[in-house]
Amino acid sequence: MHSHDGDHGHSHDHTEPPPELELKVKALESLLVEKGLVNPDALNAIIDNYEHKVGPQNGAIVVAKAWVDASFKEALLADATAAVSELGYFGRQGEHLRVVENTDGTHNLVVCTLCSCYPWTVLGLPPTWYKSAPYRARAVSEPRQVLAEFGTFLPGSTKVRVWDSTSEMRYLVLPQQPAGTQQWTEERLRCLVTRNSMIGVELAKPADAAPEQDQ
Ligand code: FE
Repeated sequence: MHSHDGDHGHSHDHTEPPPELELKVKALESLLVEKGLVNPDALNAIIDNYEHKVGPQNGAIVVAKAWVDASFKEALLADATAAVSELGYFGRQGEHLRVVENTDGTHNLVVCTLCSCYPWTVLGLPPTWYKSAPYRARAVSEPRQVLAEFGTFLPGSTKVRVWDSTSEMRYLVLPQQPAGTQQWTEERLRCLVTRNSMIGVELAKPADAAPEQDQ
């Protein structure tokens, strides 16, 4: 519906779609269905997919695999769009995905300052706060304060890097693997990977947050 300038230099604000836009979308859908160009069942299937099936569990699969498989991680950091498509996660809008890795020295935080661009294929629909004007502004102006409000406190020596998503480029954070999980299976590691850790407002959950493993 919108496209971004590379520098995100817009001044207009569009957190919520205006009512006339929703009406236009409904009118367009009716017309496409009436002309036989779109099957309403197919449209409903796409919406159902994003509401119920595509979610942060996809991103957690990607992150846990990167933690246990060094060559996958290398491929993911080099070309995330290609690496996640091999796992079956494709962008619908031709956008590119970039994965940014947290280290002791650098913590990554993702925002869309203009509106709500978000890596749908690996995280599903964005949370409300991600689309809010305060988050969009403050993630850039005072990222450490925003992190603190999510309960995330980083050492002063860790640099915070903020990535501004656009319709062309979406970002996913690769959180650091929690201490004490080096021998864990990929399946068990997935339990520690939260949506918020992949946006960068939190860290992955600590080892003791995972359910006990079946013996
Ligand atoms: Fe956006």
